[in-house]
Amino acid sequence: MSGNLKYKRILLKLSGEALMGEDSYGINTGVLEFVASEIKEVVAAGVELGVVIGAGNIFRGVAGASKGMDRTTADNMGMLATVMNSLAMQDALERHGVITRVMSAIPMQSVSEPYIRRRATRHLEKGRVVIFAAGTGNPYFTTDSAGVLRALEIDADVVIKATKVDGVYDKDPMIHSDAVKYDSLTYDEVLRKGLRVMDAAGIALAKEDNLPIMVLNMGVVGNIKKAAIGDNVGTIITSK
Ligand code: UDP
Repeated sequence: MSGNLKYKRILLKLSGEALMGEDSYGINTGVLEFVASEIKEVVAAGVELGVVIGAGNIFRGVAGASKGMDRTTADNMGMLATVMNSLAMQDALERHGVITRVMSAIPMQSVSEPYIRRRATRHLEKGRVVIFAAGTGNPYFTTDSAGVLRALEIDADVVIKATKVDGVYDKDPMIHSDAVKYDSLTYDEVLRKGLRVMDAAGIALAKEDNLPIMVLNMGVVGNIKKAAIGDNVGTIITSK
């Protein structure tokens, strides 16, 4: 099966909000189970998978800072919240029989391994799903940038940004019924048009190394696996 794969090593970026489902806060266990079953399929197909999870469902640094908190402290809290999501994802995956490791950019030895790049790639080679927690470990960054950074470090073939919509549109499809979806875009188009794919730092980082980014709807059964085989089930962002 792994011979059919276009992308053998994938970095999956999940937003915290994706884990929230229809709830207004926190982790929806139904969504978690669904994501775990999707990941199980992809791993069974032979994909080596790294996962970066955000924390918008719990806490975002900018939200704390807007209420007067020190930004660095607020961002540290946001990064800690990603560890909670990562542990929840690990738990769901292991219940589905998927072997995982959580590696945290903020050392937290009693609940996770520290992030060590060479160890991470070894886990991936052994077929373990590596969940990269605590973003980049630095304030003033987002988990989008962390996803691209980890993807570059582990030499991933693509970053899959899993969202609630089926790709990138010229305007918000949830608000505008005439919004048009792009099948493909360049990094420069994303930046120039100000499209809200991921933050500009993440796009710029991906551009430097020609790392493709695929945006797709996580809610559709089999989408990640289709993307791994090479079907463009969303929007692909590359240099051309
Ligand atoms: N964060 C950070 N540095 C990082 C990654 C994340 O400080 O490298 C903090 C930041 O406060 C951010 C929060 O963690 O708001 C949660 O991440 P993000 O907003 O990217 O989550 P998502 O939007 O994907 O749910």
